[in-house]
Amino acid sequence: MTDEPYAEIWEGGLRNDLREVIFDAKTIESKVVEIGQRITKDYADKDPLMLGILKGSYPFLADLTRAVNLPLTVDFMAVSSYGAGTKSSGVVRILKDLDRSIEGRHVIIVEDIIDTGLTLHYLRQTLRGRKPASVEIAALLDKKAVRKGKELEDMGARYVGFECPDEFVVGYGLDYKGRYRNMPFIGVLRPEIYS
Ligand code: 5GP
Repeated sequence: MTDEPYAEIWEGGLRNDLREVIFDAKTIESKVVEIGQRITKDYADKDPLMLGILKGSYPFLADLTRAVNLPLTVDFMAVSSYGAGTKSSGVVRILKDLDRSIEGRHVIIVEDIIDTGLTLHYLRQTLRGRKPASVEIAALLDKKAVRKGKELEDMGARYVGFECPDEFVVGYGLDYKGRYRNMPFIGVLRPEIYS
């Protein structure tokens, strides 16, 4: 583990609820900077709208936007696909919509994790109907192994941080019953926490 500056804060406590850490803070930081540099290059003459999907994307969005050297703007949407459990229901509800029109804008959806892909599939379809100039996806984690149905197999996310094992993970925005979002690393919960 190399998650100093946070090392002392996270000794003991909530971290003991993890079976293992899969991505430590330093590893996440380098990957986010790398994605930021790619976005800076790809959108060189544009002012993208970086759209954070609440609540899980907030650390990723904050870190990623600080790694993009462009005159971008930020907006948020909140959707719900999970309820309080650990399995995707396939039902996506918009809980909070965008503040402004995205017509003619280059939108980058910033999401914590692609699991079944249902949330992003639905969101992208919805946003495309609002006449943006383009819609791309930046996801920190991708659980490729669990995609349901052919059309969802490849979500076509332009920016993906890491491939994620088929486990329920928490930290760096990802929660279990609202908790663990503030951990600067990502790990697998001990099964006894949710069983
Ligand atoms: P999808 O629609 O792709 O199945 O689910 C996407 C959403 O489900 C994510 O934005 C996230 O909120 C939640 N999710 C999927 N997998 C995990 C996981 O392993 N851990 C946590 N905490 N949330 C997950």
